[in-house]
Amino acid sequence: MLVVMQSRATSDEIRAICERIESLGFRAHSVEGTQRYAIAVTGDLRGIESCGLDDMPGVQEIIRISKPFKLVSRESRPENTVVRFPNSDVTIGGEEFALIAGPCSVESRSQTLTIAEKLAAAGAKLFRGGAYKPRTSPYAFQGMGVEGLKILAEVREKFGMLIVTEAVDTEALEAIEDYADMIQIGARNMQNFSLLKRAGRSPLPVLLKRGLSATLEELLMSAEYIMSEGNRNVVLCERGVRTFADHSRNTLDLSVIPAAQKLSHLPILSDPSHGTGKRDRVTPLALASAAVGADGLIVEVHHDPEHALSDGPQSMFPEQFVNMVSQLRAILPVVHRTLNVEPTKGRAKTEAQVTRP
Ligand code: PEP
Ligand code: MN
Repeated sequence: MLVVMQSRATSDEIRAICERIESLGFRAHSVEGTQRYAIAVTGDLRGIESCGLDDMPGVQEIIRISKPFKLVSRESRPENTVVRFPNSDVTIGGEEFALIAGPCSVESRSQTLTIAEKLAAAGAKLFRGGAYKPRTSPYAFQGMGVEGLKILAEVREKFGMLIVTEAVDTEALEAIEDYADMIQIGARNMQNFSLLKRAGRSPLPVLLKRGLSATLEELLMSAEYIMSEGNRNVVLCERGVRTFADHSRNTLDLSVIPAAQKLSHLPILSDPSHGTGKRDRVTPLALASAAVGADGLIVEVHHDPEHALSDGPQSMFPEQFVNMVSQLRAILPVVHRTLNVEPTKGRAKTEAQVTRP
């Protein structure tokens, strides 16, 4: 339910409504837009009609949200969410097309720094490398853990890129909060509800990947788990789903991008690396993703994919990444997007990015 405030409502009136909502055992979430200020009410809303919220001073109207996902829905926030990062001009969901790139796994310091240097020169603003890997086999490389996070922190310091990395469980998530700028929740964990709730209490933005066989509604309900705990900075990601097709690792479902954007104000990225599983398909599907209106891309890049410890066959060579970027530059103006590929430079640590010794 949404309590829409009058434009002249005072901060005291807004506070009184939030207090009333919380005293009734519901949760109040402010939804600030350029057109209106509203308070979303979540919880088991049975009986809320008789609580007299509509008669309180400053209230313009009460709107019932028809969808099962409330905070994620465009009904609660008509404007697009733009995810921002402290002390950075990088955004996801605004006019600027977001580019996240990096190796599937952090394998060693030299491997990670080699790839990061090439990506920084190519203008990537967000670097993704997995320090904790969800692998089908328990005998496959599981990631370097905290050592990997320290390498990622070094990448941020040396090259100035923001760090995105996957939390496979709550323990990993807590470690990641000390080192990274954005938490990835992988496809296999899309419905790990305790992990989603913990991510919802994190100060970091969350990149939520669609499950291997998840419907759009299930993806949006998982985003709702994160938002319901207070974290508004959620970015969705289409990474391909399981189908009968056997010519590619997964089927990149580009039709979900405009569908998600219609139902939700959250940004949505495309991952053509996992979506295809083959490096020569990544650029064509990346261009198609931009053309259907994706808010950005996440792609895997490796300087020596033959020897990569995970996802080598789908990892692009750095030169292919550079080539993809130049083709994107031709397409993006058509869909009214900009692309900032000025090479990134190293920068000093900021308060929001305190790393452990
Ligand atoms: C990854 O990004 O490397 C990954 C494991 O992705 P997904 O969760 O989409 O399979
Ligand atoms: Mn991968």
